[in-house]
Amino acid sequence: MQVFHSKKELRNSLSSFNTKNHTIGMVPTMGALHQGHLVLVKRAFLEHNCVVVSIFVNPTQFNNNDDLRKYPNTLDKDVQLLNTISDKIIVFAPTANEIYAGKIKSNSYQFNGLDTLMEGKFRAGHFNGVATIVELLLNAVMPDMAYFGEKDFQQLQIIKKLVQIAAIPIKIRGCPIVREPNGLAMSSRNERLSKEARKNVSFIYKTLKSAKKKFGTKSAAYTIHWVQDQFKKKSDFKLEYFQITNIDTLTPVLRKQKRKKYRAFVAVYIEGVRLIDNIALN
Ligand code: AMP
Repeated sequence: MQVFHSKKELRNSLSSFNTKNHTIGMVPTMGALHQGHLVLVKRAFLEHNCVVVSIFVNPTQFNNNDDLRKYPNTLDKDVQLLNTISDKIIVFAPTANEIYAGKIKSNSYQFNGLDTLMEGKFRAGHFNGVATIVELLLNAVMPDMAYFGEKDFQQLQIIKKLVQIAAIPIKIRGCPIVREPNGLAMSSRNERLSKEARKNVSFIYKTLKSAKKKFGTKSAAYTIHWVQDQFKKKSDFKLEYFQITNIDTLTPVLRKQKRKKYRAFVAVYIEGVRLIDNIALN
């Protein structure tokens, strides 16, 4: 497996793939890979003969230094795991100075409100950081298609908007959430949970599924209050937000409309670890 740390070496290696007979699929990650990431990589391999996985813990998208400090850094293990899929995967693991060309700072984007609620509201500057690094990585790799998980659904919608406004000629593919057998959405942050908490967090997905049922017959406001009440009864959980939005605009639903698609989003702390999840409601 080839692992590149510099853009120049990566581009040299990829130059043979930028032909008519080859297409490049890319999976941007922050490493500490798990099955959720691997599903994206396998999907990319089904659709392209070259797959690049980037591994980079992006400092500009963390609004909390402690969270950045605690973020796992496991490059050797990640490379081993990718090798179990194919030794043809190309890993791009740049340093911050290499990818940011010495200027580690976010750009400022206009996402038409996609970035103001939920993760955007509670993590100031997060999406400018995400969009900046994704733009830099896409420009370095120049894939035909890039894969993102619905686990970070708001991020997925923002990346789709980013390629439009920055006129990057790349298709963005969203992939379904991969869960543990108990329903917990897979995440690198799950490793920080105790065994006990890891069992108890199944409550999050159970509550999302019940919310989906309730939303079938009740209003968004009723469903939101119901979910907030469920979390109030659980002293080990601290609910940050539960929101029901239109999937395209990510604006809160005031009144349900028949042809519109909705999704519910949650962010919750347990043992000081912040977890996010979401579910399609119709
Ligand atoms: P991360 O390394 O957490 O930045 O994630 C890299 C990519 O993997 C993002 O597009 C995530 O949405 C996606 N991803 C992470 N966890 C999951 C999961 N459980 N299911 C599907 N996609 C995921």
